[in-house]
Amino acid sequence: MKLSWKTILLWSLPILIVIFFLWQGFNNTNNADFGKNVASSRMTYGRFLEYLEMGWIKKVDLYDDSHTGIVEAIGPELGNRIQRIRVELPNGAPELISKLRKANVDIDAHPISDSSSNWSILGNLLFPLLLIGGLAFLFRRSNNLQGGPGQAMGFGKSKARFSMEAKTGVSFNDVAGVDEAKEEFQEVVSFLKRPERFKAVGAKIPKGVILVGPPGTGKTLLAKAIAGEAGVPFFSISGSEFVEMFVGVGASRVRDLFQKAKENSPCIVFIDEIDAVGRQRGTGIGGGNDEREQTLNQLLTEMDGFEGNTGVIVIAATNRVDVLDSALLRPGRFDRQVTVNVPDIRGRLDILNVHAKNKKLSPEVSLEVIAKRTPGFSGADLANLLNEGAILTARRRKDFTTMSEIDAAIDRVIAGMEGTTLIDSKTKRLIAYHEVGHAIVGTLLHHHDPVQKVTLVPRGQAKGLTWFTPAEDQSLISKSQIIARIMGALGGRVAEEVVFGFPEVTTGAGNDLQQVTSMARQMVTRFGMSNIGPLALENQTSDPFLGRSMGSSLEYSEDIASKIDMQVRSIIQHCHNETTQIIKDNRIVIDKLVDLLIEKETINGEEFRNIVNDFTKVPDKISYFS
Ligand code: ADP
Ligand code: MG
Ligand code: ZN
Repeated sequence: MKLSWKTILLWSLPILIVIFFLWQGFNNTNNADFGKNVASSRMTYGRFLEYLEMGWIKKVDLYDDSHTGIVEAIGPELGNRIQRIRVELPNGAPELISKLRKANVDIDAHPISDSSSNWSILGNLLFPLLLIGGLAFLFRRSNNLQGGPGQAMGFGKSKARFSMEAKTGVSFNDVAGVDEAKEEFQEVVSFLKRPERFKAVGAKIPKGVILVGPPGTGKTLLAKAIAGEAGVPFFSISGSEFVEMFVGVGASRVRDLFQKAKENSPCIVFIDEIDAVGRQRGTGIGGGNDEREQTLNQLLTEMDGFEGNTGVIVIAATNRVDVLDSALLRPGRFDRQVTVNVPDIRGRLDILNVHAKNKKLSPEVSLEVIAKRTPGFSGADLANLLNEGAILTARRRKDFTTMSEIDAAIDRVIAGMEGTTLIDSKTKRLIAYHEVGHAIVGTLLHHHDPVQKVTLVPRGQAKGLTWFTPAEDQSLISKSQIIARIMGALGGRVAEEVVFGFPEVTTGAGNDLQQVTSMARQMVTRFGMSNIGPLALENQTSDPFLGRSMGSSLEYSEDIASKIDMQVRSIIQHCHNETTQIIKDNRIVIDKLVDLLIEKETINGEEFRNIVNDFTKVPDKISYFS
């Protein structure tokens, strides 16, 4: 290997320039983003407050005019050793200082200039180090590669970002609630185990299977389980990884991936989020993406290029088959589709059983009850739920998870972290009226799901929440049920209107109104539940690149469009009138419930219904048919 000084000089110039710019960038970010170098992990302000309450915070260093804190915390959740964590403080949180004082936390404030000057000294030392590193890197590369300088960099080929697991360690027993999919894959497993048996009789095994289902339903897990059951290596890459800056990188990664896979056959190649590359070509929206198309073409070529019986089976996952390029779904490519759906109650129970195995649940915890309370939860949600329960158990220093932790965990998974309640104020009363409005309408309407609880404890974005117990079977929903839901959702805003007057209504109903409008619109355009008649005027699917109504509408005339708008408005108008009547008729019990809610912060469904029954003259629930 010859390596002349001329080559080194030739190459060191551009590299020097690159390093210089990188360094400039690095230095600039340092000043603004110093905390990152001190503490790599972060937490939210909410979690920080929680830790503070637990007495886990030992020291806080304030930077950036008290907008950033580097926290030293220790606690069971943090592995019982001191951790330095970065937290963003909203507006410097002035009342925080007194809180920290009260909690006896060591506070230290650092002026901005102080930290950056430290860094510039360090910077002066680091620069030559980086430079030497750069040269050493060049030496290594040119030693490895023969040929002219043009190939020295091996652009794009340098790192193949797929991962390989020789043994996934996942078996079909770890995947629950998706029996049909497992059934389908049994054949693939037996092929991977004994390919010769299939070859002997001339049978062809599908090369590609596409797994379709919403996020968190266990698609990745299932693919791993197939590799695990068959005892073959598992290659995986995510579609989004293909979408790179440089044209040609994605295609070369696909080539690398398949080459490695063929060397290691039999094996599974798993392509997650295939819609990122496999979207229909040439739609021309937002300009073509050459890189993506090249990657997709390479993928198609690779899949055509090997015989079905080489022992490489490609499994792809997506939650949107409808956007995939039809060439991908042609015979000989991904010609089989397996759907995994959100589990039903039995599936949820099975999944809970899988994830409860390594948890310490107290005997009174019934997985059946949890399964009943969690319609719509995916496998990942359920796993997350049990884990949150376990975290709470540890935090409360209990030995076993009880139903109280599980309840809190369900709420957290659905609605986010709990916040601190407001002090009594007009705002709090308004929120109370809003929530009681939802709850009372839901309680009095015959077709509405029953109230589970009403609470003023904020969670996530919501300042107060009304929870309803959803019915198990959500697959067929009647017109009366939708009407009841619209009225229930309007209940909050209507209570604000009736009690505080129209000029005082708040933005708090924004989300409710979105739901109301969407439900009413779907009644008209998808389910034929209006005077327009039984027409499907819009599809459910929407294109993320287009607005909802633009992407999803089928062809219809201007005339129909204005009729749709009129129908939607008339449904909502009607529901609004009825809801206003309910709120006005029940004002006495509403006032009573609001007082109780402000006092107790949470009222459960049973108690709520009892009070409503005591006060209202309505013997039976109301049902409206419009
Ligand atoms: P997807 O790829 O469909 O988004 P994953 O396979 O990544 O979902 O699921 C995430 C996690 O959720 C899994 O690692 C597992 O812990 C849990 N999970 C999801 N579905 C199931 C299931 N059917 N059975 C058991 N666990 C599941
Ligand atoms: Mg996945
Ligand atoms: Zn609301």
